[in-house]
Amino acid sequence: MRGVPPFYVTTPIYYVNDVPHIGHAYTTVTADALARWHRLNGDDTFFLTGTDEHGLKVLRAAEANDCSPQEWADRTSARFREAWDLLGIAYDDFIRTTEGRHEHAVQALLQRIYDNGHIYKSTYSGLYCVPCEAYYAPTDLVGDEMCPVHDRPVEHLEEENWFFRLSAFAEPLLAWYEAQSGAVTPVGKRNEALGIIRQGLADISISRTSIDWGVPVPWDPSQVFYVWYDALINYATAIGYGTDRQRFDAWWPHVHHLIGKDILRFHCVYWPAMLLAAGEEPPANIHVHGYLLVGGAKMSKTALNQIFPADLVETFGVDGFRYQFLRDQSFGPDGDFSFEGMVTRYNTDLANNLGNLLSRVATVVNKACGGVGPAPHPESPLADVAARVLAEASRHWESVAPSQALEATWSLVREANAYLEANEPWKMPPGAELDAVLGDALEVLRIVAILATPAIPTTCAEIWRRIGLTGTPGDEPLPASAAWGRYPGGLTVVKGDPLFPRLSVES
Ligand SMILES: [Zn+2]
Repeated sequence: MRGVPPFYVTTPIYYVNDVPHIGHAYTTVTADALARWHRLNGDDTFFLTGTDEHGLKVLRAAEANDCSPQEWADRTSARFREAWDLLGIAYDDFIRTTEGRHEHAVQALLQRIYDNGHIYKSTYSGLYCVPCEAYYAPTDLVGDEMCPVHDRPVEHLEEENWFFRLSAFAEPLLAWYEAQSGAVTPVGKRNEALGIIRQGLADISISRTSIDWGVPVPWDPSQVFYVWYDALINYATAIGYGTDRQRFDAWWPHVHHLIGKDILRFHCVYWPAMLLAAGEEPPANIHVHGYLLVGGAKMSKTALNQIFPADLVETFGVDGFRYQFLRDQSFGPDGDFSFEGMVTRYNTDLANNLGNLLSRVATVVNKACGGVGPAPHPESPLADVAARVLAEASRHWESVAPSQALEATWSLVREANAYLEANEPWKMPPGAELDAVLGDALEVLRIVAILATPAIPTTCAEIWRRIGLTGTPGDEPLPASAAWGRYPGGLTVVKGDPLFPRLSVES
């Protein structure tokens, strides 16, 4: 432990009607890499993902597929687990909102808000978008009463239901934003949330009478909670809210919510307000990212431009997939995906830089040193580079900037390749001078195998093995594990097949 708070990271829970595509994978791989980084540091780490399974759309999909909503949710939730298994996602918990533990926590938290006097009954009439499952204020609609997200007409709906007194929380929210100025990142998204709050907050309807596929309101079982207020609470359920106060307090509020910008209002306004109303602290960190665009357009079922992880894993491998989305998309702004860009990134960073470094070193060690890797030189020019890269990569991982963390890590790979080109060990006679150059390069490989583990864990374990080390790159905590000079020398170095075979765009 570094004397830092425990690290609790979450993805949004994904809607079971969706098929997991590279947008879901982008957020989930990012959360997984952050969790792996914190585990490498020996931090107490908890990584939560899961599926959102209630609401009208699930009910309708089940009817259309001639099964019960629970059967539908079971079937569709499994697709997410399969996708995350494929991508080597090491979550600690996978929560489903139809689980008993979740129903219990939802009821406990909303009962608390009710007991605190912030929930009341009233008639609601408004403009409702069915796919969003959300009411819209007329000012939020575009054109002729069209949903701003779906660009389709909203419906007029009226019902008697339970309201959360959100209007009472504008001031407490502004005070919280003032006190916790770094809670929502990037700053542009923080300002967007502040803008929503300053515009004035209307009370919100949090229950429905029209359907029964949801969590019953404990004081009025004729209604169920509206899917969003049920879903948000998953973050509290998974760490013991309502059942294990000690466990909840150990993790909360040190959470890092990763969310897409389309759900900013729910996470940056409604969720902190609900927690304040329940007498809990709002989440300490909400990291908002943009859309992952394909050819400049948002992915959608209707646009038929969704890309699924398995399509890319077939060509690039699991680590090639993970590396692409962590390295090429800067966390925060919208990112644009292209197959050609992915081939270029893969060839440059993985095949040419990292793959080539290992292959060159292993070749010379096998030719000139009888396959036994020498130890590094304590005063190698690469030692300073490695120390700087460790500091930079740490800083970037801590601030949820995987792309910059990997850029820093790959600067060490490039420096090592340049060092080999300057010294040309393949032309040097056996002896102390050659040993020093090869030992330095092996030490860089060892350090990179640690620092790149969050992104490409399988490859890093393989590099570790090929340079003769036992155990795994994460056996000893950072930063000590990445200090220069730890590669002992005298180990058998295995040549092996290329780590990342080069690809052409045609393939
Ligand atoms: Zn909509």
